[in-house]
Amino acid sequence: MLANTFDFGAYRGRFAPSPSGPLHFGSLVAALGSYLDAKAHNGSWLVRIEDIDIPRVVTGSDSLILSTLENYGLYWDGSIRYQSECLNHYQEVLNTLTNAKQVYACKCTRKEIKQHGGFYTGHCRDLELAFEQQALRLKQSLPTYQFNDLFKGNIIVESKFAEEDYIIKRRDGLFAYQLVVVLDDIEQQISHIVRGADLLFPTVRQISLYKLLGAKVPQFGHLPLAVAEPGFKLSKQNYAAAIDMDKPQQTLLAALNFLGLDTEAQLKSATVEEIIQWAVNTWQREHVPANDEIQLIPSDNSFTFKPL
Ligand code: GLU
Ligand code: ZN
Repeated sequence: MLANTFDFGAYRGRFAPSPSGPLHFGSLVAALGSYLDAKAHNGSWLVRIEDIDIPRVVTGSDSLILSTLENYGLYWDGSIRYQSECLNHYQEVLNTLTNAKQVYACKCTRKEIKQHGGFYTGHCRDLELAFEQQALRLKQSLPTYQFNDLFKGNIIVESKFAEEDYIIKRRDGLFAYQLVVVLDDIEQQISHIVRGADLLFPTVRQISLYKLLGAKVPQFGHLPLAVAEPGFKLSKQNYAAAIDMDKPQQTLLAALNFLGLDTEAQLKSATVEEIIQWAVNTWQREHVPANDEIQLIPSDNSFTFKPL
């Protein structure tokens, strides 16, 4: 059952990569930012492999991600959670929500929703369609319109977005990220979620789900997203090579600069462990740039950054 009575005094952070490829500079920033915020607050830091989206899973990339984290001095607490091992739990919660009449099947295509203005306004809510081979949506009875971000302050979303009945199980039968991320963060008793700003707006859906489940809402903080061009996340095609496994120091220092830490010159010859220790001691949320995106511009063996 859902754990909603745990002690929230303790800081428990997490990094939740999708194993769709190796860690690149952007995912390193999310790993590092969540780690530093946890450790600077004497917290623990957990790692969860979000392998729910089976078609996107690349075999072996989970172990590659984990060994990269170790190489960069980012050691996790406790054991690794794999979403693929939690399907029974997700289904149980889905059944509970279904019995409570909170879930319905939807036959609308993406194209149809787009034609009707881009937001889903509950077309199939009362049609009582059979669940088989349809997407399942959660009735949005507790819309969240704003929240206070640890780095970016008050975030307000469009009300049409906040009020959408969003998909919790996809037509192809896979559980949707929006559902399982919350169920896992509740199960793992996560108190602080620090991640990339690509997930800034969906946070309101997640907060609504915590409330619906009667669980305590964690704190959210969104780090600027590393982009190759405005609006374009880093991908395997552009900067994946940035993660140097043999000489992680330089990339680590670049990632710290990206997060607003002014790395001192003497760190250039420090070990990975020394750099991480320095960063834990120096970390302050106020230093993190509040931008949604920062463009990486390669310059001999390193990067310069352009806040967007
Ligand atoms: N698995 C998601 C990703 O790699 C991150 C989910 C999260 O941090 O909430 O983009
Ligand atoms: Zn529909």
